[in-house]
Amino acid sequence: MKLPHLPSRREFLNFSAVSLMGALISGKTLAQANDPSGNGVTESVIGQKTPNQALKSLLEGNKRYTRGRLLHPRQSLKRLSEVAKGQHPFAIILGCADSRVAPEVLFDQGLGDLFVVRVAGNIASDDAVGSIEFAVEEFKTSLIVVLGHERCGAVKATLDALGKEGKIPGHIGSLVDAIRPVAEELKNSSGDVLDNVVTGNVKYVVQQLMKSEILNEHLKNGLLKVVGARYDLDDGNVSLLT
Ligand SMILES: [Zn+2]
Repeated sequence: MKLPHLPSRREFLNFSAVSLMGALISGKTLAQANDPSGNGVTESVIGQKTPNQALKSLLEGNKRYTRGRLLHPRQSLKRLSEVAKGQHPFAIILGCADSRVAPEVLFDQGLGDLFVVRVAGNIASDDAVGSIEFAVEEFKTSLIVVLGHERCGAVKATLDALGKEGKIPGHIGSLVDAIRPVAEELKNSSGDVLDNVVTGNVKYVVQQLMKSEILNEHLKNGLLKVVGARYDLDDGNVSLLT
């Protein structure tokens, strides 16, 4: 019996290089090159999307979520074994720890798709920024979304603490201190002050990320985009702020 030809390592690498060149020439991502159906739900998302392609994938996933048409892509055992070998997350989400704002769910994405950093108030703490810098350097992820949300408890706690005497218990003060500059600026704004500070805080955090030297290297080359967004707790919709 004739055994099927198995590619040598060199042949495999040559094939990968050819695939990459083909994808670059055709303007497709490797994910698209590996997904001839073009339905975007391939198990094998290899390589990176452009910032705009990444954003489009997230917004399309959110649309499926709000319409009750979740695909739960790339959550199979096959995907589990694929990503065990390595990860190529196409977007980084800096979101709130709030239990109702789970990025993989509300963007309808799968294992290995999103590099998620969650902290109450989606603040740009040193650990959060370091995690994001790591992901951009390590995985060449091209999109960062700072995701605030309606009626954020950390933002409300900050507004409540303004002008009050006394120490904030435990480590909660570090969250409040991070949001305080925006809360002070917008505490007398017209309309829904809590929501104004939620959106103001997202924009402030986007600006803080832009100050990172590591992120700037990628931003100036057009390989990275940072956007702010607000999640609506009532209808599940994500709207872009920046
Ligand atoms: Zn929150």
